[in-house]
Amino acid sequence: MSAAYELTHHEYDVVVVGAGGSGLRATLGMAEQGLKTACVTKVFPTRSHTVAAQGGIAASLGNMGPDHWHWHMYDTVKGSDWLGDTDAMEYLAREAPKAVYELEHYGVPFSRTEEGDIYQRPFGGHTTEFGEGPPVQRTCAAADRTGHAILHTLYGQSLKEKAEFFIEYFATDLIMGEDGTCQGILAWKLDDGSLHVFNAKMVVLATGGYGRAYFSATSAHTCTGDGGGMVARQGLPLQDMEFVQFHPTGIYGAGCLITEGARGEGGYLTNSEGERFMERYAPTYKDLASRDVVSRCMTMEIREGRGVGEKGDHIHLNLNHLPPETLDLRLPGISESARIFAGVDLTKEPIPVLPTVHYNMGGIPTNYWGEVLNPTSDDPNRISPGLMAVGEAGCASVHGANRLGSNSLIDLVVFGRAAAIKAAEVVDPKAPNPELNQASLQQALDRFDGLRNAKGGISTAEVRGNLQQAMQDEAAVFRSEESLQNGVKRVAEVTTSFADVAVTDRSMIWNTDLMETLELSNLLPNAQATVVSAEARKESRGAHAHEDYPDRDDVNWRKHSLAFVEGSGVTLDYRPVTLDPLTPEGDGGIDMKKIAPKARVY
Ligand SMILES: Cc1cc2nc3c(=O)[nH]c(=O)nc-3n(C[C@H](O)[C@H](O)[C@H](O)COP(=O)(O)OP(=O)(O)OC[C@H]3O[C@@H](n4cnc5c(N)ncnc54)[C@H](O)[C@@H]3O)c2cc1C
Repeated sequence: MSAAYELTHHEYDVVVVGAGGSGLRATLGMAEQGLKTACVTKVFPTRSHTVAAQGGIAASLGNMGPDHWHWHMYDTVKGSDWLGDTDAMEYLAREAPKAVYELEHYGVPFSRTEEGDIYQRPFGGHTTEFGEGPPVQRTCAAADRTGHAILHTLYGQSLKEKAEFFIEYFATDLIMGEDGTCQGILAWKLDDGSLHVFNAKMVVLATGGYGRAYFSATSAHTCTGDGGGMVARQGLPLQDMEFVQFHPTGIYGAGCLITEGARGEGGYLTNSEGERFMERYAPTYKDLASRDVVSRCMTMEIREGRGVGEKGDHIHLNLNHLPPETLDLRLPGISESARIFAGVDLTKEPIPVLPTVHYNMGGIPTNYWGEVLNPTSDDPNRISPGLMAVGEAGCASVHGANRLGSNSLIDLVVFGRAAAIKAAEVVDPKAPNPELNQASLQQALDRFDGLRNAKGGISTAEVRGNLQQAMQDEAAVFRSEESLQNGVKRVAEVTTSFADVAVTDRSMIWNTDLMETLELSNLLPNAQATVVSAEARKESRGAHAHEDYPDRDDVNWRKHSLAFVEGSGVTLDYRPVTLDPLTPEGDGGIDMKKIAPKARVY
């Protein structure tokens, strides 16, 4: 029997879990539509990881030369290595300009051109003329603090619309009805230790990625895949989890990000011979080839003995040839990061960099309205009622096997907004809230109580360290049959060891020991799904570079992986990629011949 906890009850039309860019855009949209909306977040909204987004947000505004949403869609399809869903990728590219102008009108202080238009910079993999033309300047930026600007603006607007915020509340589990409808969440208020039940007609998971499953990541320590963990515990699948993006330019040692915008503004990579090696691998787009490509090339240079530094284990990013005024105006934040985290004055010296875990393409499967999917073989698009997922936690899937830089921020606002449009359709504010399934609530309470009183022999930090090292060693930029089999085994062992975890602090107030343990309980299923899906995928596609299967195999593997996690085991299933667009070519849609699969070269 678990201890009796006193519960505070709340009723809302919608509860959004997460206050990053996606959670705030969804919250704002729901509140604007007149839905009674709560936003529950474990950190203060403007401290969400979105605040760290530097480079910018992609939309084919065409402010700096010709552009078209068809070209943006083509680049996204190619970037995804033909694993993205066509309807969702169309929706993203088509709605992007609208979503950015909305942000502008809400008050995001974008950088400007001489003419006063929104400034746009080049980013990797963004081209013109369906990849036939030169790189395009498509990435709208507020200097190198774009995420920061977006978060502050959306938070202010959400308050104006009277959305209610529950800040430093940690959502632990979903509460599900017997029929599988989501009815709400259980949350723990960190500063006074009280427990809260949020009963809602719609729950939106906007909990971000799980970069912290790896030892070295650009993501915040809070990126622990809590939404994925909650969903997995309800027997729902996670999709395409084998696709983990390594950003080419994490600062060597520290892991902090140097934005791709640095290469967009003219920065380039060199090896120990001072060679601009990307010219050899990607003759057309060079340092602005897509991220998976650049990360692999850097890793090959290091492996072949042309890495820089004493150990020859990293690469140089050069910006010292750029005028100091450009660095000041366009990249002030990274000048500071380079100084603090690498001790480098980037007007004079190159920055030491290394591919670092940066983004999770996989996540909770959804349609392009953000509705969570619970696929069956008869109905791969079956909806899991009462539940949505947006942002990095979700998988719509627009990024497929590899995300293009600046396509995440736009994903946050386009799909945050779409979720609000859909919720206004399916949520009736006048209808009564669902009656809570007490058994499901009790399960959530028991899990919480079990971890709070865990008396095992191994500390949370040790289990987490073992997990992060296993992921770093076995599921990195390059994978092989051997490394992935080891990865599956090591992650299963770590998961089993978690049953013996020790929590030493039993208090309810600001118990960081318990919070980190709850986070670890979420990292684990995300990591399990990642290695098992990766081990099964016998091809190379996007960020999944398999040394024993170096080619993409569209006949057998152009399909989404679905991983069902239970205990230390994972069951896999697959779901077809959506090939139909939303708009037929005759009505202004893209020419489908242009996005037919072909080799992916830059
Ligand atoms: C350093 C860095 C730079 C980047 N730069 C760019 C860029 O320039 N352009 C681009 O397009 N993309 C960029 N990305 C990617 C992009 O920023 C992220 O994918 C995106 O911000 C994720 O937003 P999100 O809304 O999904 O979640 P986050 O911003 O990660 O927010 C998650 C939210 O969920 C809440 N939460 C999580 N778990 C719980 C829980 N259990 N209970 C309650 N609340 C919870 C947190 O409190 C937080 O509010 C960058 C990423 C990084 C790491």
